[in-house]
Amino acid sequence: MVHERQGVPEGAERRLALDGQVDLAEVVAVRLLGQDAAPPQAPTQQGQADARPRRPQPKPVNLKVLPKGISREDLIKIMRGYAGALGVGMGIEYAPGASRLEVIDMFRVAAERKLPVYTHMRSAGRVDPGSAIQSVEEVIGAAAITGASLHIVHVNSTCLRDSLECISMIEGARARGLDVTTEAYPYIAGMTAINSALFNPGWREKLGIDDGDLVLPESGEHLTKERFDELHNSKAQQFVLVFANTQEIVDAVIPNPLIMIASDGLEGHPRNAGTYSRILAQYVREKKTLTLIEALRKMTLMPAQMLERSTPAARHKGRVQEGADADIVVFDPQTIADRSTFANPMEPSVGVHYLLVAGTPVIAEGTLVPDVFPGQALIGPGRAHAGSNR
Ligand SMILES: [Zn+2]
Repeated sequence: MVHERQGVPEGAERRLALDGQVDLAEVVAVRLLGQDAAPPQAPTQQGQADARPRRPQPKPVNLKVLPKGISREDLIKIMRGYAGALGVGMGIEYAPGASRLEVIDMFRVAAERKLPVYTHMRSAGRVDPGSAIQSVEEVIGAAAITGASLHIVHVNSTCLRDSLECISMIEGARARGLDVTTEAYPYIAGMTAINSALFNPGWREKLGIDDGDLVLPESGEHLTKERFDELHNSKAQQFVLVFANTQEIVDAVIPNPLIMIASDGLEGHPRNAGTYSRILAQYVREKKTLTLIEALRKMTLMPAQMLERSTPAARHKGRVQEGADADIVVFDPQTIADRSTFANPMEPSVGVHYLLVAGTPVIAEGTLVPDVFPGQALIGPGRAHAGSNR
């Protein structure tokens, strides 16, 4: 896939590209929403003595709205340049300068292109205005207004303590005929860039956590306020683990019938290597809150059916049947387990005997086969008409 680099912060592209979602479309959306290279200074706190040595103060990251003068027609033209995309992605929480109308406009463009919208929601936590509940309302509202299908990415990490409430809102929207889906990963921590807008002032209250709940993946260092300020204000991209959820919430979310399993993978977080085997080990074998077949459905058929909105090729994914692509995992349900941890995030899982991708073994007799890359990207139907769409 071609990545449009201009205007996309390096880390955002890396994060989005590894997100396990429609990376190109997300990058496109971030690019369209633009990034302010020089975020304004936070107002100086009242009463701060000037003589005192200044600690760097947290600066808000305010991403700009669409480039000046761009029309919806221009936007559609730009979108046509990305024929072949599987969806339109938005990281609204990373682009807080985007107005509600612009979000609706992006949904309109998606609807016209018959593509679903994949979105990180505008905000997390319980503080209103700007709660997770309001953020779910915003995107469900935009889906209802425009007719675009909607996929809310990893509902667990935005809705946190209100995850079940957010899922019930999605359930309500679906009951009224809207095409809304979502997913979750089985970990209590998320991971994102500390220099991002997610950590604009007020994040502690919103997420209900403190500096010590932020951990550097490389060293395991828990941050202090001083360290947070230093890293947040630095231009150097730094990813941070965000311990904002509880095991109780994650355990309640995973078995919900609307939840697909997704890794949201990113190097430095155990979800990258361990998500799927962890579901089979912890929720099927140990906690027994999912049957094996329910767990498999969440990891195979449901995501394939979601992708069928964008490409007929997905009809050959996620099921074992004649004519389907031979993407098959042979594993031992008694032993499969994740080994990746926050300390050793890339440790491979155990219990997989064979993994076939398009009929070619990439794991055989439990061992990784070197230098075999049979996987092929799914591409949206727009690709075939790219010439006429431009
Ligand atoms: Zn994500």
